[in-house]
Amino acid sequence: MTLPAEPATLRGAGLTRTYGTRSGAVAAVRGIDLAVREGEALGLVGPSGSGKSTLLSLLLGVERPDRGAVLFDGSPLTGRQQIRRVRQAVQYIPQDPASSLDPRRSVERQLREPLRRFRIPGDHASLVLEALEKVGLGADHLGRRAHELSGGQAQRVAIARALVTRPRLLLADEAVSGLDLPLRHQVLELLKEQHVRGGLGLLFISHDLAAVRFLCDRALVLDHGRVVEEGPAERLLETPRHPTTQELVDAVPRLSV
Ligand code: ADP
Ligand code: MG
Repeated sequence: MTLPAEPATLRGAGLTRTYGTRSGAVAAVRGIDLAVREGEALGLVGPSGSGKSTLLSLLLGVERPDRGAVLFDGSPLTGRQQIRRVRQAVQYIPQDPASSLDPRRSVERQLREPLRRFRIPGDHASLVLEALEKVGLGADHLGRRAHELSGGQAQRVAIARALVTRPRLLLADEAVSGLDLPLRHQVLELLKEQHVRGGLGLLFISHDLAAVRFLCDRALVLDHGRVVEEGPAERLLETPRHPTTQELVDAVPRLSV
């Protein structure tokens, strides 16, 4: 793939990561190029074990590549300061986001935490409220503890926590896969609104091609650590070319979105 010339928020070039295990070397990511452009929603699909989460760790600077580089706004991701800058502008939501909340802490405390950690300037109380509003919650939720929230509210709070630093890009790793259907729908709608209305960039990882089509303009299909196909999410779903993509299409739950 030739990398586009237009500015990319986050770019991986020739990324390679091999893990040494007792049973030998596992090539998790094998020479991947990708670019998430400003305000774009990019999907990353692939079967289990295809390297999606490893790629995300490389992009977040949590793991170092054996070969290749990560560039944020055109500058290589090296050194602590740059990694810190990326962590603030690029937020991450894990699978089943609500389970990452501390059940005993108040919503307010959990939303203030990233603001303090990244030393975000400005009025933290109003940033917290702004993030809550983005997910359809309000001031009356501030004092609640996570365990006092409904499942849907807890998912929203967890997403608000990722939005509170006003990131430019959100990386979501199977963020809706563990959710039941109504909740999955709510979270997808919410992310879509932030993308369409708020201009938030998304890198959305899923094995569910239907969810990817709902949210993403473009998608990459991964298998065995390589990109095997890429294109508009709709085209991949309607006319898959690579057998891996075909398998993902066949696995799409008919009522998933
Ligand atoms: P996916 O997220 O697509 O399911 P992963 O990136 O988690 O895939 O894993 C890709 C491959 O790398 C798999 O074979 C997995 O077993 C292996 N792998 C991932 N993380 C590690 C690790 N920390 N140590 C050893 N092997 C790993
Ligand atoms: Mg994974």
